[in-house]
Amino acid sequence: MNINDIFTKKRPINDLQDLAIFYELSKPHLLRLIAAIICGAALAGINGAIAWLVKPALDYFFIHKTKVLLILLPLGIIILFLFRGGFTYLTNYLMGSIGAKIVRSLRKEIYDKLLLLPISYYTRTSSGSVVSRLLNDLGILHSIIAHTIKDFFVEGATVIVLAIVAISRQWELALLSFIVIPLMGYSIGRLGKIMKSTSLKTRKLISQVTNILNESLICMKIIKAFNMEERMSKKHENALAEHYRNTMREVRIDEFSRFMTEILGGIGVAIILLYGSYLVMSDDMTVSSFFSFIAAILMIYTPIRRLSKVYNNFQQGRAVIERIKEIFSEENERLGGIEKQLKGHIVFENVSFKYPGTSEYAIKELNFEIKQGEIIAIVGISGAGKSTIVDILDGFWSPTEGNILIDGININDLSLKSVRHNIGMVSQDLVLFNDTIRANILCGKLDASDHEIIAAAKAAFAHEFIIELPEGYDTIIGERGMKLSGGQKQRLTIARAILKNPSILILDEATSSLDSDSEQKVQMALEKLMTARTTIIIAHRLSTIKKASRIIVMNRGEIEQIGSHDEIFLSSQTYRELYSLQFKNDNMQ
Ligand code: ADP
Ligand code: MG
Repeated sequence: MNINDIFTKKRPINDLQDLAIFYELSKPHLLRLIAAIICGAALAGINGAIAWLVKPALDYFFIHKTKVLLILLPLGIIILFLFRGGFTYLTNYLMGSIGAKIVRSLRKEIYDKLLLLPISYYTRTSSGSVVSRLLNDLGILHSIIAHTIKDFFVEGATVIVLAIVAISRQWELALLSFIVIPLMGYSIGRLGKIMKSTSLKTRKLISQVTNILNESLICMKIIKAFNMEERMSKKHENALAEHYRNTMREVRIDEFSRFMTEILGGIGVAIILLYGSYLVMSDDMTVSSFFSFIAAILMIYTPIRRLSKVYNNFQQGRAVIERIKEIFSEENERLGGIEKQLKGHIVFENVSFKYPGTSEYAIKELNFEIKQGEIIAIVGISGAGKSTIVDILDGFWSPTEGNILIDGININDLSLKSVRHNIGMVSQDLVLFNDTIRANILCGKLDASDHEIIAAAKAAFAHEFIIELPEGYDTIIGERGMKLSGGQKQRLTIARAILKNPSILILDEATSSLDSDSEQKVQMALEKLMTARTTIIIAHRLSTIKKASRIIVMNRGEIEQIGSHDEIFLSSQTYRELYSLQFKNDNMQ
């Protein structure tokens, strides 16, 4: 069973079912797990042996006064402790490696799952919450597998072995001292329930902290420009304070459950002393048996205390599992469909689209056709729905109603891979990776040669500025291209599209950050790029759409007019307004 199935399999919600998830996750490492359990059992056996040996040792020493034991016993003790140390090392090593292996494969699977999720997931999820699951939550899971599950086996076995020693020494006394165990179980169970919900809250709160950190790192310039340092610091501090309070709640639950175990343990020991000394005095038990018994009982309390934490930690683990389940149960972007080299004939049939969670249509009943090789422009004020049209065309969203056909095939029947392979998008949203210029242009075509890369950069008028950079094409451009100017970034994204050589080209305000000099150059580059392919241009500047054969005027998500410049200039009020606004701007430059 792969990890995705382990988390998405329908199961009734209870402790045992989550235990099954832990088991299924460790299944690929079953051999290691068995080896760890064997080492753990040996460890428990040695602990039992130490308690058991107290009686013969005392008997031979004080009753039979055997002298050889003076040498043998210390030697035996050293050997026993040597084995105990060795088995402890092995058990911890094995369980630690199982934890690390499981967490590594979980990280891989979650990351791969993230790559498959649709854009809609990312518009409603904060990146901090995702990062926090991968880093903080999985860190906790590692410690739970490495320590808690190990404790469960080792301490559990130790308790059983020591209980057997105690029973074999004096079963009545043993049963008497076990009276407290159901009481311990009850208090641990009650507290464990509270632990899970508290832990789930802690996980959410640390997500919040991560989110603030994440956002601040991305928006540091804005924070400084708007003097928001103090406000952000306060926001971060508040999130930290809330996380602290909740963490302390977990500590209190944990320690209270330890406190209860201690008290009940103390009561157990008191009962034993009382009844045990009575048994010894009435000659029903030898002194050496009594000490062996006491050794076993005293040794049993440490593992019982640890076991009492196991349940709480397991509840914390369940909280983590719940959060990982959430990611795996998200629906993927659709896979499969027709693989095809597209030519670029596009038809919108009554296409409407509403963003999830909104009540207004972002675009409404769009009907138009773009012929293969045609250049079409979309204009409209911001918020009119222009970017939504091209995002739907690129398969980021599916139309709520209506159909989109490319080359006569419904876009829903085409594979997203084919759609995106054939569309080259230059937009302000598609930013750059923090990598070299070469790697950023390579996104367009991963197997391109250096020669092709340089040709694309030249065509985008980017080559000149690239070779002036300290390391040319190997210059690392900073996060989201921070080390480049707006115009340079746009020329890089254009070079990327040129290299991709798609049959459908989409330019979403691709030249908005350029100065008029470079705009002219890029305009030339784009004109070259536009020939022989279907092109959709979204532009504020009307100068950039002169080449378009037809213009779609968008107004509040609806098409107001479609036609050539001359036609719509007469009939569309919106277009005239945009035009006169633009005319003024262009005069000012
Ligand atoms: P344009 O590109 O014409 O400026 P958009 O297509 O980006 O406009 O946006 C159209 C409308 O859809 C706007 O009202 C905008 O607020 C809304 N919108 C855009 N993206 C989202 C989103 N991810 N979730 C909800 N609403 C959105
Ligand atoms: Mg837009």
